[in-house]
Amino acid sequence: MKKILNYINGEYCEPFSGDWLDNYNPSKGEVYSKIAYSSSEDVERAYSAAKDAFPSWSNSTIEERSNILMKIASLIEENLDSLAEAEALDNGKPLTLAKVVDIPRASSNFRFFAHAITQFASEAHESVGLNTMNFTIRQPIGVVGCISPWNLPLYLFTWKIAPALAAGNTVVAKPSEVTPMTAYLLGDICTKAGLPKGVLNIVHGTGPSAGQAIVAHPDIKAISFTGGTQTGEHIARTAAPMFKKLSLELGGKNPNLIFADCNYEKMLSVTVKSSFANQGQICLCGSRIFVEKSIYSKFKKDFVEKVKKLKVGNPFETETNIGALVSRPHLEKVKSYIDLAKEEGGKILCGGNQVIIEGSENGYYLEPTVIEILDYQCRVNQEEIFGPVVTMMPFENEEEVLKMANSVKYGLSATLWTSNLDRTMRVSKQLEAGIVWVNTWLNRDLRTPFGGIKSSGVGREGGFEALKFFTEAKNVCIKYD
Ligand code: NDP
Repeated sequence: MKKILNYINGEYCEPFSGDWLDNYNPSKGEVYSKIAYSSSEDVERAYSAAKDAFPSWSNSTIEERSNILMKIASLIEENLDSLAEAEALDNGKPLTLAKVVDIPRASSNFRFFAHAITQFASEAHESVGLNTMNFTIRQPIGVVGCISPWNLPLYLFTWKIAPALAAGNTVVAKPSEVTPMTAYLLGDICTKAGLPKGVLNIVHGTGPSAGQAIVAHPDIKAISFTGGTQTGEHIARTAAPMFKKLSLELGGKNPNLIFADCNYEKMLSVTVKSSFANQGQICLCGSRIFVEKSIYSKFKKDFVEKVKKLKVGNPFETETNIGALVSRPHLEKVKSYIDLAKEEGGKILCGGNQVIIEGSENGYYLEPTVIEILDYQCRVNQEEIFGPVVTMMPFENEEEVLKMANSVKYGLSATLWTSNLDRTMRVSKQLEAGIVWVNTWLNRDLRTPFGGIKSSGVGREGGFEALKFFTEAKNVCIKYD
């Protein structure tokens, strides 16, 4: 059986423990490969390689670093088909989605930061009269840790690694043990692109073992983490006594605010996507739908009709819209929320059942599910489900929908549908979210700040925000006569 090895000091290697974890193919519910079960010893080995590589990498020219990142981007593009197939097999997502979204974005992440670093500049402040000139140097931090989740495996892994490397750091990274395959394949691509040994080290294994060892390592000075809010809290507690720099991109429970004056047809088709893309397993999916009362009945009918047409099936079939959920425990968690919705008085408008696919009877398939709720404060409308499940209810006016939208502990993103510019401004300003999309969804310009407020995280990724995170600012003050 295929073994997913660690990538340390430019070479693939087995874990110290000699132990392996099972890696499942969610579309079949079968083990198809083995993952290195790494411990703190593997993390130490990765750290040591990264530490040795740091002086040379951090002193390389911007052009050298940029050129290597460009080569990695090109090699990801050249291997698009095989990487997309690996992602679909490992994660259960439709192959078409991996081909159009995940893998192209992984390549763009490297290409974007290869360009961005050439434009990253710092400030100078002359204190006229005091005869001093201050200038800021932005220096790489050293060895940094990057930890990513399973929903957009290579996309989010590279979203952290690319700016970290561009800024001159060396990296110890851990992908989710649930979806390690494409991160494993990235090692070979980095070697082929000429990334010097030790600059990027990839350690596989569980969060509590390998992940915890990265976070707890006293000399890994910054942690960029994307994952659940509870894990983020734990990481923050571990890192705080060491005063590590932290970027935390956490959970979400994002609202859609649909006003009667919107472009109805456009809103309808985008809302189907924002609800169920990637089986609803995108932190930015709009899982709470609030609709202005005057169009609520029409929307309910049209939306449910469209959702019923989504095809749940094998990720490798081109007509599949909804693939498999990522794991058995995750499927059970999502199903438990559907049961809870019923207990809370929710009405299942469509879906709600596990789907058995012929030939893949053990796969983790679930119907896209729409639940009409009575109270915006019920648990299914407050807690992150992270699956193909959305809630909906009507609202009377702006004031009421803002109260409903802002009632959750999360604050990642929100989507607003209206053609009224005044309302766009008023509502966008009052929404408690790091990102507000108006008449669109998941529209990303990589220069923009990305991140959440409240329990959705601390810090921003994207553009120069990421390069600022991965550097330390030092002010140099020169007195002249
Ligand atoms: P988890 O928090 O379970 O895991 C995320 C990563 O952290 C994984 O690599 C995991 O390893 C690792 N990890 C787990 N425990 C620890 C620990 N104690 N110390 C260090 N690392 C640890 O999240 P999921 O993988 O379940 O991802 C889903 C979550 O991610 C959702 O809440 C979603 O909203 C959020 N997310 C947020 C995004 C954002 O930009 N804000 C984007 C995408 C997802 P392992 O899996 O091996 O246990």
